[in-house]
Amino acid sequence: MRIICLSTPVGPLGSGLGGGVELTLRTLVRGLSTLGHTVTVVAPVDSHVAPTTTIERVGGALHVPSQTLDRSTPPVVPDDSVLVNMWRRVTEMSRSGNFDIVLNFAYDALPFVASRECPIPVAHLVSMGSLSDEMDRAVAMAVDRSSRCVAMHSHAQARSFGREIAGRVTVVASGIDLSAYDYVEAPDTSLAFVARISREKGVRDAFAVATLTGRVVNAFGVMEDRSVWDDAAREFPNATVEYRGFLTTDVLQRELGRSAALIMVHYWVEAFGNVAIEALACGVPVITYDRGGPAEIVHHGRTGFVVPPDDVSAVAGAVDRLGTIQRRDCRSDVEDRYSEQAFAGRVAAWLAAVGR
Ligand code: UDP
Repeated sequence: MRIICLSTPVGPLGSGLGGGVELTLRTLVRGLSTLGHTVTVVAPVDSHVAPTTTIERVGGALHVPSQTLDRSTPPVVPDDSVLVNMWRRVTEMSRSGNFDIVLNFAYDALPFVASRECPIPVAHLVSMGSLSDEMDRAVAMAVDRSSRCVAMHSHAQARSFGREIAGRVTVVASGIDLSAYDYVEAPDTSLAFVARISREKGVRDAFAVATLTGRVVNAFGVMEDRSVWDDAAREFPNATVEYRGFLTTDVLQRELGRSAALIMVHYWVEAFGNVAIEALACGVPVITYDRGGPAEIVHHGRTGFVVPPDDVSAVAGAVDRLGTIQRRDCRSDVEDRYSEQAFAGRVAAWLAAVGR
């Protein structure tokens, strides 16, 4: 297949503003190419990609991420929207006869609604759970037209859009290039928190866990909302939480690998949680709230612990039981289920079904 990948309009690739979408897109470009497909990425200007990736960079104003808005906020399309500009480019390319399918990563109603006008099929890989009434309607509209054309990363994510949608979409999970993650057998005692510094990622609870366990928590990710960090630091003055910045995958995996565990203490329904499989690939067990994708990834008691949502004491209790986890099991589980090849294979099968 000759595939056009439409990137997220919330930030250039490599900026971290796109969250897990950035890694997912990178992984798929490589994985699908290895399977013999050709991939062209359409993304905002200033996007950084591997030298071998074919990319069209498009200018325009970035969009406000949906997770920062209320459910019922009316759609905000900025003047000179980068998404409108990217979509225009995608439709022009689609008319050239050189492409077979569009793979859309934008969590925005526009491509869902406008795909009707596109001369080639559009497949939507939805990157977040239900966050806005507008997106719910857009996803429902696309599914009504053809259930095949929508895929999600986890069953929990799909269920957040309602039972009917959940029963009709394809679940493809996610995957990573395992060669980019080194296995670490002997960790130190620190815990890792890898997420955008934002309310929905549960920064407050990371501070609470640091306080309860007395362990250092290293926080890695884009500083999206400084006030969330400052509020948590004020509430938990004795917590040793170190902000380590937004790191490239190579540096991140090295730091992450040294951790005793990754804690996932999010407030929202995490669609998948790429960071969970990245940690496991380094041999790092994951302690997660039972909320969204991470609970489908972690084998409770074998590769980490799944605890009740919002229960920081349960997270601290799980930290005490980390000695029962074999770090090798964490790595092998990712090798079995979440390799780049396995993920690309699932997505290629889905795209073939959409294209039929
Ligand atoms: N990430 C990174 N450097 C950092 C912290 C995070 O590259 O210092 C990446 C991480 O590898 C992951 C993404 O940010 O791919 C976060 O994705 P996830 O699916 O966990 O959450 P999202 O932000 O999409 O909700």
